[in-house]
Amino acid sequence: MGKRIRTTAPSAQSLRPREPHDELVPSRRQYLRLKAQYPHAIVLYRLGDFYEAFDQDAEIVARDARITLTSRAFGRNGRVPMAGIPHHALNVYLARLLAAGHTVAIAEQLGEPGKGLVERAVTRVLTPGTVAEAALLPAAENRYLAALAPLPDRFGLAWVDVSTGEFATTELAGGDRETTLADELARIAPAECLVPEGYPLTLTGAGKVTALEPWHFEPERAAYRLRAHFGVQSLAPFGCEQLPAALAAAGAILAYLERTNPALLPLLTSLRTEIPARRVGLDAATRRNLELTRSLRTGGTRGSLLGVLDRTVTSMGARALRRLVNEPLRDLWELRRRQELVAALVADAEVRLRVEQILASIGDLERLVSRIVQGYGTVRDFLALRQALASAEAVIGTLQAGGQGPLSAYAAEATTVPDLAALLERAVVEDAEGARIRPGFSPELDAALATVQDARRFLASLEQRERERTGIRSLKVGYNKVFGYYIEVTRPHLSRIPADYVRKQTVATGERFITPELKEAEARLLAAEAQIAELERAALARLTREVTARVGAVLALAHWLALLDALRSLAEVAARYGWTRPVLEEDDCLEIEGGRHPVVEALLEGQPFVPNDCRLGGTSPRIVLVTGPNMGGKSTYLCQVALIVLLAQIGSFVPARSARIGVVDRIFCRVGAHDDLPGGQSTFMVEMIETATILRQATRRSLVVLDEVGRGTATHDGLALARAVLEDLHGRIGARTLFATHFLELTALADELPGVANVHVAAVEQDGRVVFLYRVLPGPADRAYGIHVARLAGLPPWVADRAEALLAAANPVSARPNGEPHRASDDVALPRQLTLPGFPAGGCSAEELARELLALDIEHLSPREALDWLFDRQARLRNGAFMPAVLP
Ligand code: ADP
Ligand code: MG
Repeated sequence: MGKRIRTTAPSAQSLRPREPHDELVPSRRQYLRLKAQYPHAIVLYRLGDFYEAFDQDAEIVARDARITLTSRAFGRNGRVPMAGIPHHALNVYLARLLAAGHTVAIAEQLGEPGKGLVERAVTRVLTPGTVAEAALLPAAENRYLAALAPLPDRFGLAWVDVSTGEFATTELAGGDRETTLADELARIAPAECLVPEGYPLTLTGAGKVTALEPWHFEPERAAYRLRAHFGVQSLAPFGCEQLPAALAAAGAILAYLERTNPALLPLLTSLRTEIPARRVGLDAATRRNLELTRSLRTGGTRGSLLGVLDRTVTSMGARALRRLVNEPLRDLWELRRRQELVAALVADAEVRLRVEQILASIGDLERLVSRIVQGYGTVRDFLALRQALASAEAVIGTLQAGGQGPLSAYAAEATTVPDLAALLERAVVEDAEGARIRPGFSPELDAALATVQDARRFLASLEQRERERTGIRSLKVGYNKVFGYYIEVTRPHLSRIPADYVRKQTVATGERFITPELKEAEARLLAAEAQIAELERAALARLTREVTARVGAVLALAHWLALLDALRSLAEVAARYGWTRPVLEEDDCLEIEGGRHPVVEALLEGQPFVPNDCRLGGTSPRIVLVTGPNMGGKSTYLCQVALIVLLAQIGSFVPARSARIGVVDRIFCRVGAHDDLPGGQSTFMVEMIETATILRQATRRSLVVLDEVGRGTATHDGLALARAVLEDLHGRIGARTLFATHFLELTALADELPGVANVHVAAVEQDGRVVFLYRVLPGPADRAYGIHVARLAGLPPWVADRAEALLAAANPVSARPNGEPHRASDDVALPRQLTLPGFPAGGCSAEELARELLALDIEHLSPREALDWLFDRQARLRNGAFMPAVLP
């Protein structure tokens, strides 16, 4: 359970400084008072150019932000530990403190430093979930703050990205609400999650858990807070009026933001109520196994599905694409809408490129708006906003140029803010004088600027005029910090100075004077300069208000652009890799022709990926058993089918020659990760827990992909379990299932159960080697395959023969109808020269040849053997017989 943050003023009781209060110097007393208000946060106290942490906070900052620990004297009270963060590098160190899970309260100086103690107050509290500064956030990912409202019979879950204004809530009811909650947390992956104080459950995948007073989660109170925030009478338009838990969670988020960073509140312009049933259920293990957004090997996006899909050119687009990948849908209407757009962009490469070029100039509009609304907007930010709005118009124009169609329909959905664009056009400019408020926007500012120029010109001309008036050719007008502007006359000419010169300072070479006229110009200059800073601030504040007043529309435009970038990225990938548009159906068929694994194919680079078909459900069996040798391509095939279905259900094209997909309600995938786990009981336990979850949750509409269930235990019970699981999937659940197994005995099930079929991954022996073909073919794998390999390995023939006999006696199951033992190689027409689809005849892998050459023990070869070897390799090279993957 996380710490509780208090932002209410503490009672006098809670003020317990370590030193007797009366003897404290005022600054120390002020610090201790601020610290007492935020006992669980690290308080950073602004002192000149530094943000200082004291006492125990200083030790934490020194350790976690990697800052030198020093100490500071406060009056006669002695020294206290101190760590100082330079103000200009605050973000760097804040990022480290937040990453270490700390909450940070920033106490700024409110008054101008001068005599006496400067007033200070905590202006922002940063927690892992409430960070809005782009500099502290990963660009291509959303950062969510979530709130969980547990009601007796349901959960409310709300989440917000305070850097983009996305605010959503949902309600999870029903008996499986805890698993749904776990799935939702896995999808949202919040950095921080609010729960009512005293909430007993431990939450996995919820980020930092922060407890909040329970009354913030009361539905009535929350609804009141939400209505007040949105300024509405009814929450019905948001779709959650009748959902008390959803309201409670959303209200708790508002309450928390009000106390941590109220400047963020204007960004929350709307609340979306989500219906979990609209999405495809994916649990945390499935997300991990399918490597949707994170590769198990690299730990990052590279090597994941998102890594292949992401060709976005804006960070907001990258975030939108990540959301699409994380949230496959069951909603055929929305999926077809996305497909239409992707298809239109695939078809028109010119529009695709043009849109890409314009989008690239827009940048991160969502976070730009967030920064402006919080009051951090600079002239450059408003210029960037102006540019973004103009670019958005250009994007809309490009989409409309093609005439009626999905793209112009999408263009019609864009919210534009022409009045804001026009205002910014008038308000800011970047020219030879740099980025600035455009002349004409603020008459007062123009006047002040004119005054400054005037005064400067006057002072510049004064030297010449005074020289003429006095006849002193060496007379100079100068400036220093102490006296301001002065007139300097060297000693020999002092007798000629006019009467209105007032002596100010004597220097080695002469005297310095002022005149009333000079001082008056100077005063005008200084006053105008001070005014300019003030007027510029006022102009920016006015612009900030104007943007804030339209923040809903601007953010809607940003989201529209972000989705366009994401869909354009999908189209780019589809065009580049030759993907096709899948046909989505309401029924429960699954027909993939020539399917490929999107990630493995991309990683093979140049080497051919062998496409495979898949038929599940509809008129075909609902369960397919996949057998074949290790490294034969089973896991790849399983994942590829799951990924193709998932891609189809985010609205993307798919890597297949063609696909017809009856939408699934859930995908369960247990593949691959097993390979990374060490063997033994714990692996088995994990596997069984996961299998149990699947059997409980899967429905007839689900897609289940299981790899080698039961291998974590002794053969006989593993086999028994695998069989029992299959029978349940077949008889009771009826989910479309791919089941890879090394238990060849299981393949007999196909003869017993009508809805079960066998396929195997093909491999052949050639020149004493096993060559994987990666072709998925009908029927079970050759059960003598292991013995076959053993023969190749040099097992004495009498032993191999005996093994074959034993096997045949023990297991007559995979005998073919005609009584002939089935061999994988029978299914492949094996030409003299082996050529794979897509593999140029006569080509070969130079790498493979090199490997063989390196392995050659030349020292011990006879000349005859060496010559044979050369002849052989040359012949095979000519025949293109080297396979993409050849194992000894
Ligand atoms: P298995 O699960 O049968 O042990 P994998 O699916 O892990 O085998 O595949 C092993 C390797 O074979 C993969 O890493 C990939 O490089 C290659 N491979 C698998 N399927 C194909 C395919 N269809 N085309 C080309 N290479 C493949
Ligand atoms: Mg495998």
